[in-house]
Amino acid sequence: MKAKLGSVSEGCGVIGLRTRSGNAAHLINQGLYALQHRGQESCGMFVHDGKELKGHKAIGMVAETFDDRILTRLSGKAGIGHVRYSTTPGTSILEAQPFLCKMDGKSFALAFNGTISNFVEKRRALKSSGYRFSTRTDTEVLAFSIAEAYGETGDYFEALGRCMDALDGSFSLVLITENGELYGAKDRLGFKPLCIGSDETRGLYVVASESAAVDVLGAQTIGEVKPGEVVKLSKGGVERRVERVSRRHAMCMFEYVYFARPDSVINGICVYDARYRLGRNLAKSWPMEADMVIPVPDSGRTAASGYAQELGLPLIEGLMKNRYVWRTFIMPRQEVRDLSVRLKLNPVKSAIKGKEIVLVDDTIVRGTTMRRIVRLLRSGGAKRVYVGISCPPVVSSCYMGIDFPTGRELIASRKSVEEIRRYVRADRLAYQTLEGLVDGIGVPKSELCLACLTGEYPLEKTADLSSLEKELARK
Ligand code: SF4
Repeated sequence: MKAKLGSVSEGCGVIGLRTRSGNAAHLINQGLYALQHRGQESCGMFVHDGKELKGHKAIGMVAETFDDRILTRLSGKAGIGHVRYSTTPGTSILEAQPFLCKMDGKSFALAFNGTISNFVEKRRALKSSGYRFSTRTDTEVLAFSIAEAYGETGDYFEALGRCMDALDGSFSLVLITENGELYGAKDRLGFKPLCIGSDETRGLYVVASESAAVDVLGAQTIGEVKPGEVVKLSKGGVERRVERVSRRHAMCMFEYVYFARPDSVINGICVYDARYRLGRNLAKSWPMEADMVIPVPDSGRTAASGYAQELGLPLIEGLMKNRYVWRTFIMPRQEVRDLSVRLKLNPVKSAIKGKEIVLVDDTIVRGTTMRRIVRLLRSGGAKRVYVGISCPPVVSSCYMGIDFPTGRELIASRKSVEEIRRYVRADRLAYQTLEGLVDGIGVPKSELCLACLTGEYPLEKTADLSSLEKELARK
């Protein structure tokens, strides 16, 4: 599990699979382990046992939620699973996913990754059509929107296509119906990853947030669900239909910079390779003379290797992490975060004493964590600390599935680079350039979402971002 000491959070991981054997639940459980870094507040799964949907959800991690007894009770050939970090209000079991939606004798279970940016307006409209809500989440808005569209069309491909038209924001989802039909879909702009995997010999077909989850199942990744595409996993294989086409796409650049596992491949690009190139590009634009490069573990490690390699500097693990402390950013309360930062890192004094150090990380969010790390290195005897950040400054909130602090809390939204340097007490500080970022990721700029760096949101005009911001602030 990777560690992050700032306060930026992913908003979930999903998996859906169909297998010839009756052990879908055990496979989903394995897949959820591989996605645990995407959310640690709650998790759950729903499986179709040949007759009906059965599910189990709990607050907590995958290892705490499922045991062999539960997984055996959930026997079946198809199912979906979810790990959650909330981006909209509510962290109770009610808000845990998958969400079971019942409608006129029919039902489906839904799990998704993303944020429906116009969910406040859509909830109002659905309420006036008679839908009764039990949570304040966008998950329920998405579920009722699908139910409404399915009621009109009787077809999940078209229902999901209609939701792509009506809902702004991001969703990469998996859905299983009361008769065991299993779908995956991605919004028209394709913000969040969702890949497809298979192992024909076992009749195994998978959709998952990351290819690392396909790998752990011993299956092969065969591609990415396209923006605007709906896929159906059946006994015979994967049926794919692009339901809606968009003039532009907007893959979240942060998946490559930080969120996804380095061993995952998104849109054909290995995340590790992208991070390594980001480190090299940072070194090209900001070549420092120093004794060593130290990564902030674990988030800065791959970019630090690229930086060190480009300049021929030694890469030293000068900060040791206590692996038994949970990821700080995933813990919602500030005081818990503060406590865990102190618990989490310790400098290796003999390695850093009297040295000039380039410290590499992927982002500075509020600046408080970086300030503590610089202080740690100095207290360990470092002579100079130069901070290099492999992503450009984050200046705007995210309304598409990532739990960033709001605008003013982002240090780069109100301070210049020089002011940030002084705040974190570094001797030098530099960020990646936007060009270096796009080049390092290897995806054309027009295909990426860069909104938290530029303030230019690729959303349709239907989302009222001030209502959304108020609603997100309730969390
Ligand atoms: S605003 Fe930033 S974090 Fe949010 S989807 Fe866009 S690139 Fe990703």
